[in-house]
Amino acid sequence: MLDANLKTQLKSYLEKVSRPIEIVASLDDSAKSQELQALLDDIASLSERVTVVERRGDQERKPSFSIGEPGKESGIRFAGIPMGHEFTSLVLALLQVGGHPVKLDDAVIEQIRELDGDYQFETYFSLSCQNCPEVVQALNVMALINPRIRHVAIDGAVFQNEVEARQIMAVPTMFLNGEVFGQGRSGVKEILAKLDTGAGARAAKELAKKPVFDVLIVGGGPAGAAAAIYSARKGIKTGVVAERFGGQVLDTLAIENFVSVQETEGPKFATALEQHVKSYEVDIMDVQRAEALVPGRINEVRLANGAVLKAKTIVLATGARWREINVPGEREYRNHGVAYCPHCDGPL
Ligand SMILES: Cc1cc2nc3c(=O)[nH]c(=O)nc-3n(C[C@H](O)[C@H](O)[C@H](O)COP(=O)(O)OP(=O)(O)OC[C@H]3O[C@@H](n4cnc5c(N)ncnc54)[C@H](O)[C@@H]3O)c2cc1C
Repeated sequence: MLDANLKTQLKSYLEKVSRPIEIVASLDDSAKSQELQALLDDIASLSERVTVVERRGDQERKPSFSIGEPGKESGIRFAGIPMGHEFTSLVLALLQVGGHPVKLDDAVIEQIRELDGDYQFETYFSLSCQNCPEVVQALNVMALINPRIRHVAIDGAVFQNEVEARQIMAVPTMFLNGEVFGQGRSGVKEILAKLDTGAGARAAKELAKKPVFDVLIVGGGPAGAAAAIYSARKGIKTGVVAERFGGQVLDTLAIENFVSVQETEGPKFATALEQHVKSYEVDIMDVQRAEALVPGRINEVRLANGAVLKAKTIVLATGARWREINVPGEREYRNHGVAYCPHCDGPL
């Protein structure tokens, strides 16, 4: 199933695993189940720490598999065969279950751990969707940290009947406890902000303590980041408030027209933007939606959580979003010829 090159790469990754991993596969007699079995056997052959247990006739989707510690029920499951862009999610899940550290701030890990509730997530992805791995990996890591969170990542092409029955128009689409939870790219911070209803009030309390900024930039895309760097370099008190730091570049992979950088990827570019901004004294207030601008001698920006930020100068760098052309049938034919992104809603 895996070619020699992938096997070599995966073997070297699996050397980082320090704890035993048990993959429990739910299979039937279909060709897809055989394909999955071959993949899992390949993985097990690459590390002594990985074992595969096979189940037939259970209640799980087939083919699917969970990844966990031996004998412990795991909250991470893939339904279908996570190759394509999802192969990285599979590798990451193996590494993290196998003891490789999770790359999240301690405060975020604590916030996930303290979520009080039972959360059953399902994410529909396609193998060519470049926005899906972020969602799959975010929910997998949350399931790893908090045992009351469970996540199944489902390949929509393999479970087409579910896609039709649930009227899924785009990938990734997330369901929480059977109801649509969200669509499109989102990471741990965005998911947490939606789940942790008390977080908004706590954040508002902290934001209310902010001093008056000299320059407050609304928007954290390339334009907002550039404005922040220019302002901070002049030594003036600068803040950035953004719904999603990084902006639209987070939704793309290959960027080949950024002069002097021959090729980069959207998320990598967004990380570099953030690091560059953070190298100056800039107060970044991420995952915050601005709802109103109230001009005055001291301008105010009202946020969705009720907090009010103040600044002598405001820079609006709120970018763009996919535009609808408002022609008959545009909505009805979404995903049946009308697509906004060949890698996102195109495949389904
Ligand atoms: C799929 C895709 C592929 C692309 N590929 C390329 C490419 O290869 N090369 C290229 O040059 N360009 C590409 N672009 C375009 C490029 O990403 C945009 O031109 C660029 O990101 C615009 O930067 P910006 O900072 O003006 O706005 P955006 O990137 O749109 O950022 C807007 C910022 O404002 C925030 N925001 C918006 N409303 C609010 C609010 N109410 N409150 C708080 N914050 C808010 C957003 O969260 C975000 O942080 C691509 C775009 C997409 C979607």
